Amino acid sequence: MYGRFGGIDIVSIKENFMTEIEPIPCGSANVYIIHGNKESILIDTGTEKYRDKVLNACQCANVRLILLTHGHFDHCQNALYLSTSLNCPVGISAEDLELLQKGTKRKVYGKGIWGNIYTWVSNCNIKKCKIDPVDSITVLENEMSLQEYGIDGKVIKLPGHTIGSVGVLLQTGEAFIGDAMQNIISPSMAWCYEDYEKAEESVNLIHRINPKKIYCGHGKMFGL
Ligand SMILES: [Zn+2]
Repeated sequence: MYGRFGGIDIVSIKENFMTEIEPIPCGSANVYIIHGNKESILIDTGTEKYRDKVLNACQCANVRLILLTHGHFDHCQNALYLSTSLNCPVGISAEDLELLQKGTKRKVYGKGIWGNIYTWVSNCNIKKCKIDPVDSITVLENEMSLQEYGIDGKVIKLPGHTIGSVGVLLQTGEAFIGDAMQNIISPSMAWCYEDYEKAEESVNLIHRINPKKIYCGHGKMFGL
């Protein structure tokens, strides 16, 4: 079953299991709450400017996990604040853990004139933005089930934009892909990446999975 309820997409009702997706626009970045029956997962956290907006949206959601698609500041700058406020762990891949916990700055690259301009701005922002380390970490593995957090879905590795980028694939066929792809002008690979070949492979993987709907870190939801 699929329908609209308030500002929320109801994407699945099966055998008493319901999933609702609540987008929380945070400037140029998207944050999402995946609501299960009783528990929920927060996908990414936005920048510091939006921390209270995200916290307010989470107040009645019983968030059990804050899942970071990757370690860039516009996705994880509120991880410590929200983890402390909501009393739940933060999930991130082992490969991106150093971006969050040590504040390591890794460069991104781009192609073409526009790609290089965008990448230059991105690297300046990455360099100057601070990310607070988090106390409670859950390391995300490929194919890790999210059922213990109340969501019928799993983690999928989507490396390339960062080496440790991950997404979430719901049993219902919806996917959250962070910055593995974007939909700013039209759906495409992210304009900047740490490893171009891996980023391309991840886009190919998304095409092979062929999700029913794709929720990305920047831009509107899309289908393939
Ligand atoms: Zn990013």
